[in-house]
Amino acid sequence: APGLHIVATPIGTLADITLRALETLAAADAVLCEDTRVTAKLMSHYGIGARLIAYHEHNASEMRPKILARLAAGDRLALVSDAGTPLISDPGFKLVRDCAAEGLHVTHLPGPSAVLTALVLAGMPTDRFFFEGFLPPKQAARRARIAEIARVPGTLVLFETGPRVAEALADLAEGLGPRPAALARELTKRFEQVRRATLPELAGALANEPDPKGEIVLVIGPPEEEAPLEGGELDALLAAALA
Ligand code: SAM
Repeated sequence: APGLHIVATPIGTLADITLRALETLAAADAVLCEDTRVTAKLMSHYGIGARLIAYHEHNASEMRPKILARLAAGDRLALVSDAGTPLISDPGFKLVRDCAAEGLHVTHLPGPSAVLTALVLAGMPTDRFFFEGFLPPKQAARRARIAEIARVPGTLVLFETGPRVAEALADLAEGLGPRPAALARELTKRFEQVRRATLPELAGALANEPDPKGEIVLVIGPPEEEAPLEGGELDALLAAALA
């Protein structure tokens, strides 16, 4: 069908792509991708010779009108990112927004995302979770962001990189206290690893190790529920507030 087909691609194991994703990529008039070299590898692995067009942070605003015009003319375009689900800490949301505004067909072929794979493996409550994406790299901004999410009443999911994870964990332990946490690394790959401990324990361990290799997702358990106030405590608080 004409329109924009948003296609999830593997996050570490090439076989993690759906049959429908392969059919869609093969049938597309062009495939929009972050890095043509990365997507070319996936395409050549599956013998797909589609035309690749770069669509990334730096050319998106210039490319978007051209893409919308092609879609309006009836082209069938696919959007992929380097790995996982497009739009999730990756380019694409403005394209979807503009397609919707112009009444152009958009659909998504679901598949891998590091967010859900890490959440599923963490062993934390999954009924409510908050995806924080990447924390800011500078410490002051990072601490402010952590303070903002401290009371979110659900599990937290964050993206991290090897060189920054030790500092991030130190700030998270300081800002969120001894909550259970999981550090998920190299998901779906041969050396997939999930380390589960409290935030301070993980922060302490990482402070004394070389930076972990590979890509990382942090999952942090919800804050402890505050005990409801007893009648006496409430009276005391009210008296103190009035005084
Ligand atoms: N759109 C992608 C998705 O849906 O998974 C995420 C893109 S984001 C730019 C890249 C981040 O995702 C990495 O820094 C890491 O936090 C996480 N990630 C991606 N692949 C991973 C993997 N195999 N294992 C652990 N984390 C991964």
